[in-house]
Amino acid sequence: MIEVTPGIYRMPLPLPVPNLSHINTYLVKGDNSYLLIDTGWNTKEAFNSLKKQLAELGIEGKEISQIVVTHVHPDHYGLAGKLKNLYGATLAFHHLEKDFIETRYVHMEELIKELGQWLQRNGVPPDRLAELQKASLPMLKFVTPTMPDTTLYGGETITCGDFSFEVMPTPGHAPGHICLYEPDKKILFSGDHILPTITPHVGIHPQSGSNPLGDYLDSLNRLKQLDVELVLPGHEQPFTEFKERIEGITHHHHFRNTEILAALDSGSKTAFELTTGITWLHDVNGVGWYKLGSWDKRMAILETVAHLEAMRATGELEKFNRDDIRYYRQPKKAKKNE
Ligand SMILES: [Zn+2]
Ligand SMILES: [Zn+2]
Repeated sequence: MIEVTPGIYRMPLPLPVPNLSHINTYLVKGDNSYLLIDTGWNTKEAFNSLKKQLAELGIEGKEISQIVVTHVHPDHYGLAGKLKNLYGATLAFHHLEKDFIETRYVHMEELIKELGQWLQRNGVPPDRLAELQKASLPMLKFVTPTMPDTTLYGGETITCGDFSFEVMPTPGHAPGHICLYEPDKKILFSGDHILPTITPHVGIHPQSGSNPLGDYLDSLNRLKQLDVELVLPGHEQPFTEFKERIEGITHHHHFRNTEILAALDSGSKTAFELTTGITWLHDVNGVGWYKLGSWDKRMAILETVAHLEAMRATGELEKFNRDDIRYYRQPKKAKKNE
């Protein structure tokens, strides 16, 4: 537990996944109560770590009256149900995320089937489908599906003591992702929207909307106007270089577009062919797709399609179907310039 600024405590919680070491939950001190932002996975280790860090502040848990979740990925939302019931707190998150609780965490069969068809249409060979379809199932045990008491739409103000946070919808990483902004204190809780060194995953899937990368870059651009002196992210460390980081992430996505266009060259390819033709995990010197774990393999395909669809939206690419498989190519006009 670290007091990052007067009245706000960062409580990192352990995650049972290899790539990310922890999720940051944040506790905001009010007059007689506390606001908790994000919750961690529903594991014994995360829960015990949270209790221990609360105890360091002399808090049992019942003092937490509000819980706000930036988006319903298991690392941010998993413990929300348990904490809400245990502490009697109200739970708030965005209405678009609320729509996913049932299909993603309760009756997920339909979604898995849909994802399978979708992967197939994007060129994934049949013998690879089962592995990719089931890649997220191990995550389910880390979530207690719970509906919010307060559904957010954006523009609301969440108050706690001296703090007034504006709810800012920031779709992209998740359709109903929100950031919380404190304009007087110039603090931004950025969830997974802006992380200091990791580029947040933005992928297309049956629940992502048609152009999540376009949404993501638009959201980033909108936030850039804010006056922010301290960013409190969902992973890694708090940081201050807000605008520089937004520029860095934007640059990264342009670089990935260039890479994909180079892999496509003047031909027609499926998203799967392109995904396996470029490198992944640039933070660790880059590896080929076949070397990734199942979860990363799936994320890589979803990310490639997000890039392809973003470039299709701007007219840089076009898409056509052949035997129910989607192919991307550069429009003829662009080819003439070569
Ligand atoms: Zn996330
Ligand atoms: Zn996360």
